[in-house]
Amino acid sequence: MEKNNNFSGSSPERERRPQFWRVARQACQLATAVDVSFFFLFHILGSPILAWINVVSVAMYVAAYYALGHRQNRLAIWLIWIEVIVHSALGTIMIGWGSGFHYYLMLFIPALFVTMPPRGAILAMIGLWSYYVGLDVLMWFIEPVQPVSPGGLLGVHLFNLSIVFAMFSYLSYFYLNMVLSAQRKLSRLATVDSLTGLFNRRHGSYLAEKEIARFQRAGHSVAFMLVDVDHFKVINDRYGHEVGDRILTEIGQLIPAQLRTQDLVARWGGEEFLIILPGTGIDNALASAERVRGALLSHDWKATAGVTMDVTISVGVSELCESDDMASVVRRADQALYRGKAGGRNRVEQEEVMA
Ligand code: GH3
Ligand code: MG
Ligand code: MG
Repeated sequence: MEKNNNFSGSSPERERRPQFWRVARQACQLATAVDVSFFFLFHILGSPILAWINVVSVAMYVAAYYALGHRQNRLAIWLIWIEVIVHSALGTIMIGWGSGFHYYLMLFIPALFVTMPPRGAILAMIGLWSYYVGLDVLMWFIEPVQPVSPGGLLGVHLFNLSIVFAMFSYLSYFYLNMVLSAQRKLSRLATVDSLTGLFNRRHGSYLAEKEIARFQRAGHSVAFMLVDVDHFKVINDRYGHEVGDRILTEIGQLIPAQLRTQDLVARWGGEEFLIILPGTGIDNALASAERVRGALLSHDWKATAGVTMDVTISVGVSELCESDDMASVVRRADQALYRGKAGGRNRVEQEEVMA
């Protein structure tokens, strides 16, 4: 099943690695341009057979290009394989190993592992290697069938070498980008909460620790806010879990919109959010908390929930001090939040000031 998908033109494969097939299409365009140049070049060099071989090659690349466009990846790959294998052998046998046509075979090495499952790729690799070595050995024993002038041979060699260099560079660049984008995706998955798009708890803790370390070095103030949605259980019970989810998603956008770009917002638990405000003292943090509370209160939830309703939050605010670690500063925000709940909810409470 896996084998079938990987080397076939089936859509799962295309959907899994669409970038690869896009690059394959671009390679077909480039190969077409190269073979059209060869058609004229070999006429000039007095090798009409090789010139006309390129007409067949161009037809095969055009067919492969359209096959890729119609998601017939398996057909396209076969066309490209046959073209390169036959063309490199014919070119080499006609005008000699020095033509450098064999370099094109090497372009398959990276492509093999992208288009096939590992076992198939290793087998194909051994086949490719045998073919390459066989062609090399053969040319030690036979003379080229239709040699061209030494200057012409050097020209063809340098041309082929340059094309292969360019293609390898492009492929490497493409693979690098693929790895980087996979890395970005992974790191996003590891740091972001999928429902709200905010940082998840683990990354929130990491960022909080980093801010605390910065505070210990630089000494600028840092405030913490713990936000909890009031009676969220009631909202879920009354309107359904799905509406609850949509409200959380919306909150994930409304909170950051009230804050500065450097403020860090994480989903701390179910309907609870931790906000880190670097460079902010308690007074400004209280003002920010009021802004967030007001924004949620005045928001029109009809589009999100299907009904007009109020969503209120309680917020506990604390400011980092020298003897603090993360647990203690968050605990003080949590205690303030608890007082907010006990005092009737829908309010911002400040940590208790020590005498
Ligand atoms: P309080 O005002 O005291 O905070 O009341 P509350 O109902 O908000 O608090 P409680 O902790 O009793 O309930 C939190 C609710 O949040 C219960 C849980 O089902 C809900 N919840 C937690 N995570 C999610 C979520 O991802 N989606 C939805 N829809 N609900 C969630
Ligand atoms: Mg709650
Ligand atoms: Mg809660």
